[in-house]
Amino acid sequence: MNSSVLIVGEDDFPSRVISRVRGLTALTLRTVASAQEAEDLIQADPSELMILQASRTDTWELCRRLKQQRSLSSIYCLLVDDRTCPAGQEEEALLQRYTSLMTTALETGADAYVWLGEDASDQAEPNFVDHQSRLFQAQLRLGLRRIQSYRELSRANDLLSAIALSDPLTQLSNRRAFDWELPRQIQAAREQGAALSLLILDIDYFKAVNDHYGHLIGDQVLQLVAERLSHNMRFYETPFRYGGEEFVVILNSASAEAALMIGDRLCRLIGDQPFAVNETLDLSITISVGVACLTPDDDERGINLLDRADQNLLKAKLEGRNRVVQS
Ligand code: GH3
Ligand code: MG
Ligand code: MG
Repeated sequence: MNSSVLIVGEDDFPSRVISRVRGLTALTLRTVASAQEAEDLIQADPSELMILQASRTDTWELCRRLKQQRSLSSIYCLLVDDRTCPAGQEEEALLQRYTSLMTTALETGADAYVWLGEDASDQAEPNFVDHQSRLFQAQLRLGLRRIQSYRELSRANDLLSAIALSDPLTQLSNRRAFDWELPRQIQAAREQGAALSLLILDIDYFKAVNDHYGHLIGDQVLQLVAERLSHNMRFYETPFRYGGEEFVVILNSASAEAALMIGDRLCRLIGDQPFAVNETLDLSITISVGVACLTPDDDERGINLLDRADQNLLKAKLEGRNRVVQS
């Protein structure tokens, strides 16, 4: 996979950079003239590495801003100084200037800072220019290695998150995911002034399934119920396995009436058609559903909301099961 590189600079800066990176490795190069253009571009489609013209002050500011944004701070920023050294300066003065600029660059958040002189053919001291080019290329390779490690780390992280948040039996999101998601959905609903409802679904007499057919068949039934639920969810309905034989569904933008209708629909979805567990066993299963709708007094974590849905589930059980109850 190519590494995406954005060159930010004007005049002959991009072409000088490109002439030195060509053939280095698989890169997808883009070029813009100003920090503002770069920012617009990376907000929509982030690059993994940026080569910034250090003679522009806006690139230093861009570098600082990127490093302050969590989602963009992993972009490797290489500040490249293409200013010619003032003629006749002592070596010591040059070294001081270089050290001071590099320190400021790193303090700004840049991952590396290099000087990139004129092309060798234009210079009296081609050796020095060669060294600058090699240093630039070495820094670039270092950046590309960092990108590679970051990609591998992100992939591992995504995989671990998926494992941590998913229920291995049913493949639905698990209780940890629900505990994380509900407060977010509550906050979003409040910010948008939208309704939010919650359903708790519990399989009726599930213990009897285990007792009659064994836990393996019980597990298969849980998988089939989860599959039927998730295949029949709409985009604003998010199902989770809450634990055991209980599921919860967060209903975005669903009023109390809509939530009741959805609860009824899910009850019929499970109860109307038996589950073909294997070639010889069709099992009829029903569920009971407790419904609750978010109120302004509810806490931000959703504990009250969940508690009301749970109370209503209990009522549904007491009233005979295979039904939906809403307070
Ligand atoms: P009710 O209608 O009141 O909900 O009755 P119930 O039998 O469904 O409820 P109860 O709480 O008495 O039993 C739930 C059963 O679900 C007991 C437990 O062994 C079973 N169970 C929970 N998790 C799993 C699982 O992952 N696999 C299997 N096979 N059974 C499970
Ligand atoms: Mg239960
Ligand atoms: Mg049950």
